[in-house]
Amino acid sequence: MVEKNSTATRQAIIDACIESNRTGLNQGTSGNVSQRTDEGVLITPTSRAYDSMKPEDLALLPFGRKYGDYSGPYKPSTEWRFHFDIYTARPDVNAIVHVHSTYATVLSMLRKEIPACHYMIAAFGGPNIRCADYAVFGSKELSDHVVKALDGRSGCIMGTHGMIAVGANLDKAMWLAIELETIAKQYYLALQIGEPVILSDEEIERVRLRMKDGYGIWTEGN
Ligand SMILES: [Zn+2]
Repeated sequence: MVEKNSTATRQAIIDACIESNRTGLNQGTSGNVSQRTDEGVLITPTSRAYDSMKPEDLALLPFGRKYGDYSGPYKPSTEWRFHFDIYTARPDVNAIVHVHSTYATVLSMLRKEIPACHYMIAAFGGPNIRCADYAVFGSKELSDHVVKALDGRSGCIMGTHGMIAVGANLDKAMWLAIELETIAKQYYLALQIGEPVILSDEEIERVRLRMKDGYGIWTEGN
């Protein structure tokens, strides 16, 4: 469902940012959160502390106008390009969470994708979580790499940078961001003591369909 550009929608974005810092998923203002609305993309402004952020501080990037046009008292996050381009490429995505969470970022430094080392990888739409090629933050090149890595997926690692989770709503995107960091941590730890067993593509597809079939994972996050 596409939310309205309302105070409640704006506050929910701020709440998600505060929550991502509280849980340790993000540190400081390095991450950013956005939401598709009826009037365009709402995104956190650049370099502002979340706990003093007000709903009117968010930037709005309207669709169908000059690329980069925005309204709001502050400039949008420097990463607005990949947020905007993901919404353009992916009609199924209504919310995006980007963080530099520790374990996903450690894997990003090694440019390692996450294979099907746990069945929960299926929650991201397929048998792996890809690692996008590196490009400097805020660039169109980075945006192109990220859109490619997200093809058919709800999350990706970003080479030497961090990670992105996308969802049909903000709750789902947040849930997937936490899940991605969890799998990254588990994969990292497993690699310390051996070579994880990787599930087959067929098995991941079976899990994916089971999740879709009311396993509860999508709605309850359990
Ligand atoms: Zn970043």
